[in-house]
Amino acid sequence: MSARVVCRGLTRRFQVRERTITVLDGIDLEVEPGEFVALVGPSGSGKSTLLGLLAGLDRADAGTVSIDGQELGALDEDELALLRRRRLGFVFQDFQLLEHLTARENVALPLELIGARDSFERADALLARVGLADRITHLPSRLSGGENQRVALARAFAHRPELLLADEPTGSLDRVTGLEALALLEELRREQGTTLIMVTHDPDVAARADRTIELAAGRLVTA
Ligand code: ADP
Ligand code: MG
Repeated sequence: MSARVVCRGLTRRFQVRERTITVLDGIDLEVEPGEFVALVGPSGSGKSTLLGLLAGLDRADAGTVSIDGQELGALDEDELALLRRRRLGFVFQDFQLLEHLTARENVALPLELIGARDSFERADALLARVGLADRITHLPSRLSGGENQRVALARAFAHRPELLLADEPTGSLDRVTGLEALALLEELRREQGTTLIMVTHDPDVAARADRTIELAAGRLVTA
């Protein structure tokens, strides 16, 4: 399953003291089901802000985001939380694993949140899938950066999301480890048919996407 994402006139402004800065200035974007789009642009250009709006973690000042025709602005916070839990996956630069939970528990958590009965079995299978069968009971502090990102990938795909949002997922890893994590992400994405929108600074990473879009001065330019 994969999601179609559409933004129309998407605008986000922030109030910084007396000034209003327009970070996203009427973004129009269509991402097809199963497409892999790389999102690039200088630091501060609004990439993370855009992902936050796509995830329904933030509200637009104008314009719309819809996922498979469902406009996020029409949903309340509970409905958005449910949509994220059931249909979206996330991967972050800093992994965002829960430090007091083992690899297995981190991966099982999103499955437990949607009421899956076999969450530990599924977590173990996914951890084996990402090459961490012998690390299942490790805490994040006992794993390397590359291993933690693989745990985070297993978690992100555990509930078979329709849309995966990744914010510089290779940004904190060395080059080889980053490319390994990316290859794994691409494999899982292909298996599940997931739509992927990935922020990256790395031109080699962006080159593997179906399409690259670039944010500059609040607008999208097609690279
Ligand atoms: P990127 O991810 O491309 O580096 P961000 O989306 O994080 O950029 O930020 C874009 C701009 O919006 C930056 O100038 C940042 O300081 C500003 N910004 C982001 N979130 C907030 C916020 N909650 N309040 C005020 N300014 C913000
Ligand atoms: Mg960012």
